[in-house]
Amino acid sequence: MKEGKNYELCEVKAGPENEKIFIGKTLGLTGCEVSVNYFKPGKGYGFVHSHKRNEEVYIILKGKGVFYIDGKEFDVHEGNIIKVLPNAKRALSAKADSELSFLCIQADQNSLVQSTREDGIISENKASWM
Ligand code: ZN
Repeated sequence: MKEGKNYELCEVKAGPENEKIFIGKTLGLTGCEVSVNYFKPGKGYGFVHSHKRNEEVYIILKGKGVFYIDGKEFDVHEGNIIKVLPNAKRALSAKADSELSFLCIQADQNSLVQSTREDGIISENKASWM
């Protein structure tokens, strides 16, 4: 990141040729990792996994899928947001008749020490639409 530049913009599109794109390094994130994901109909993670420290939030952007957590499975679809604790054993797949696009955000559990309301500062600056 250039000095004096307070943001990074990237454009990625996960698809059949690139199912998972981690963007943490691209954006220079320091508090979480984010991946942009896509599964073809009937396709999903080939393994079940857990984490040592990171909790994860899966945000279903498009399509329908099946979530596996600790031996149980449930359907998910666009608009669903699923938090998974680090030690939970998880996997995700697209339904046989649907693609699945989702974001996964992972962050060190209990690392957040403030929320937006406590951390946000309203500025006197005005954007073009204000
Ligand atoms: Zn994970």
